[in-house]
Amino acid sequence: MSERKETVEKTAEHKEYPAREQTNREPREFDKTKRPRRPMGRKKVCVFCVEKTNSMDYKDIAKLKHFVTEKGKILPRRQTGTCSKHQRMVATAVKKARIMALLPFRAD
Ligand SMILES: [Zn+2]
Repeated sequence: MSERKETVEKTAEHKEYPAREQTNREPREFDKTKRPRRPMGRKKVCVFCVEKTNSMDYKDIAKLKHFVTEKGKILPRRQTGTCSKHQRMVATAVKKARIMALLPFRAD
């Protein structure tokens, strides 16, 4: 009655992948001396969140200076501890200040 060919025959041979060998490898040791880490106990905190600031003034150069390098680059969040929301505000404020020539695009 039914002349359907069975095409599900090749599954068996595909299973012969060598199962991942259980090696007795020792867990990799982490050389803690190689990567410098911030000492525990002092977490960086966003200064703007502490002050509950919700607006950024691009004319406030004294404040913005804390978030740029001496070459005029915007410092990364991991260095300043600024949260993402405020980092975005800092970045746009710095960029505005640059256009207004309050901060340098590139200082030598
Ligand atoms: Zn913040």
